[in-house]
Formats: sequence, structure tokens, C-alpha cells
Amino acid sequence: MEMFNRLGEHDHEQVIAFNNNASGLRGFLAIHDTTRGSAFGGVRIWRYENDDAALNDALRLSRAMTYKASLAELPCGGGKTVLILHDGLRREEAFADFGCMVESLAGRYFCARDVGITDADLAALASTTRFVAREPSPELGDISEHTAVGVWHGMRASLEFAGIKGRARVAIQGVGSVGQLLARILHREGMELIVADVDGARAAAVAKEVGARVVSPGDALSTECDVLAPCALGGVISSESAAQIRARIVCGSANNILTNSKAGDELARRGILYAPDYLVNAGGLIRGAEFFLLGRAESMTSIAKIYARTRHVLEVARDRAVSPAAIADELAQGRLVRQKRFGNLSWRGTPKPS
Ligand code: NAD
Repeated sequence: MEMFNRLGEHDHEQVIAFNNNASGLRGFLAIHDTTRGSAFGGVRIWRYENDDAALNDALRLSRAMTYKASLAELPCGGGKTVLILHDGLRREEAFADFGCMVESLAGRYFCARDVGITDADLAALASTTRFVAREPSPELGDISEHTAVGVWHGMRASLEFAGIKGRARVAIQGVGSVGQLLARILHREGMELIVADVDGARAAAVAKEVGARVVSPGDALSTECDVLAPCALGGVISSESAAQIRARIVCGSANNILTNSKAGDELARRGILYAPDYLVNAGGLIRGAEFFLLGRAESMTSIAKIYARTRHVLEVARDRAVSPAAIADELAQGRLVRQKRFGNLSWRGTPKPS
């Protein structure tokens, strides 16, 4: 019953718990909604505190993928896989096993890289399934770069909406794949940068390249700046930690930046503009869905629409005096045909099932 309460809370369609003793593969694949099409969503590998935390992550992240696809008007739904990192994991075998599981779903779920996934993991995964965005690929391009460009469009919309002109000060929490590329874009756009990363060497290297100041990871949230860009893990802003923020705008790539809707309300109450995460970080999904489902050669034109969508959400939120997070949820939900069904999900993009 507990499980169905959890699925029912946000109307999740399916959860697969999978295990293989030989390779040590363990994880959850959550498919939130396939109303608009196959579930797209990354694979993450993480050392979770317990199984519950892993399942929660899969549930939250898969829902965000549905909303992301819905707001970006893509013909796909949302899913997410979390793999449990533990000492008994035989990594290469486990990823190949996981690929077999994905393949067995025949395109109902299409996966891509998320936090903790290496090139070798992707190669092992792609050895047993066609339903994975294999990178690097010159035709597909760099997914993280598409995400970073989208975040920039959302950020410039937010800066304009807030009336901040010229050289803004942006603090980036986490300069991994997306954070680093975002730092380069912002440097080119003439922004003043502050960076933080738990990997001190990485923070120092990025700071050197873009002329940024480094702050410790613990100080990132409370750094005084125009824009705080969370680009590490999610759940960084709660209704309590929102009180520490000294930025005028929060806009970053991390999925599920807010722990819950109260955190969004608290930011709004303090006059801090929040650009909803799944709205501004949709660039990678837009590229993946347009490439694999629609066969598009480029997606930067579609990604540029994040600018207008962000402006729209911020304007509606201001006019109705509610948080932008609530408005984004409302718009995304409104676009879903809430007639839940397990539709005909035979794969319609490339790669073609044999
Ligand atoms: P990544 O693993 O390459 O980078 C994350 C970085 O954050 C790493 O450098 C890590 O050391 C750092 N970090 C972790 N905890 C930190 C902390 N507490 N303080 C400061 N730094 C910390 O991941 P990524 O692909 O760049 O993704 C970053 C975020 O963006 C994730 O939340 C991911 O889900 C989200 N996202 C990524 C994409 C994409 O295209 N890669 C798309 C949408 C959303």
C-alpha cells in the first residue's frame, strides 16, 4: 500500500525495481507519464543512504522530466533511472545488464547520461540497448552544452525581467559538465563570475579559465550576487536554506533545486526571482528528443524559446502573485492530457527497432 500511495501522490505510471546478483546491478526505473510519448530521462548512479532515498530520487526526477517535456512541447514523457552505487557493483557488467532491461522495454523508455555516468558506462549500456543517447556523437552534439545554452536563455530572461543590466555577478554552484560550459558562456557575455565545487581542483581550473573567484562549497548559497546558479545536485534550497540566499535571482541547471513547493513560496516571499529548473534546464532534453524522435539536425532554435517561456512564466507569476515554480507546474500539468493511459508506445524515432 505504501508503494501505491507513493505512485499515486503524483500519478506515476510505473516503477521497475531491478536486481542482478551476478553484476550487483540494483536500481529503480520510474516512468512518470507517457501521455505525450515514450519516457525520456537520464540514468544516475549514486551512493544512496538507503533504498527509500533512491526510490524518492527516481520518482521526483521522473516527474520533473515529464513537466520538462510538456513545457518544451516535446512529443515525449518523463522517466528516470537511479542505479545504486555499492561495493559489490561490477560496473561494466552491471551497465550491460541494465541495457538489456532498457532494451526489453522496446522504446517505452529512452535514456541518457546523468550524474555519475562515465563514457565507459555509456559504452557498456549501448552495447546491449539501442535506446540510449550515446555521446559523444558529432550528429547529436554535446547534450550538456545544449543544457548550458538553455540555462543562459533562461538567465538572460530573468535578468531582464528583474531589470538587471550590464555586468551581472553570477555564482555557479558546481562546475561539472554543465556548470563549466555555463561559466564559459557567461564569461563570453561579460559576466562577473564566482564558482564553487566540492572538487577543489576543478573549481580552480574553471576559475583560472574564466577569471572567476572561488568560494567554498559551503558558502556558495549565501554568496552575495545577482544570480545564484545551482549546477550541482538537487534539493539545495529548502524553506529554511532559502533564508541564507543573498542573490536576486536563482537560475541553474540542477534538477529539483527546491526541496518542495514551500521553498519556492519562501523565495517568492523574500523577493527572490526563481526561474523554474525544469523550464531553464530543458536544452539537453530538447536536443535529445528532437534528434532521436524527430531527426532534427540542430536544436538551438528550439532551445532559444526557453527565453520567451521563462519571461512568460515570470510575468504570469507576478500578475497572479504566486511563485514561478507553481505557475510552471500548472502550465506543464495543463498540457498533459490527464486521461492516463498506457498508450501505444512503439518507437517512432531512430534508432529503429529491428
Ligand atoms: P556533473 O556531475 O558533471 O557536475 C556536477 C558538479 O557539481 C561536479 O563538478 C561536482 O563535483 C559538483 N558538486 C557536487 N556537489 C556539490 C556541492 N555540494 N557543492 C558544489 N559543487 C558540488 O553533472 P552535470 O551533468 O553538470 O549536471 C549538473 C546538474 O544539472 C545535475 O543536477 C543534473 O541533474 C542537472 N542537469 C544536467 C543536464 C545535462 O545535460 N548534463 C541536463 C539537465 C539537468
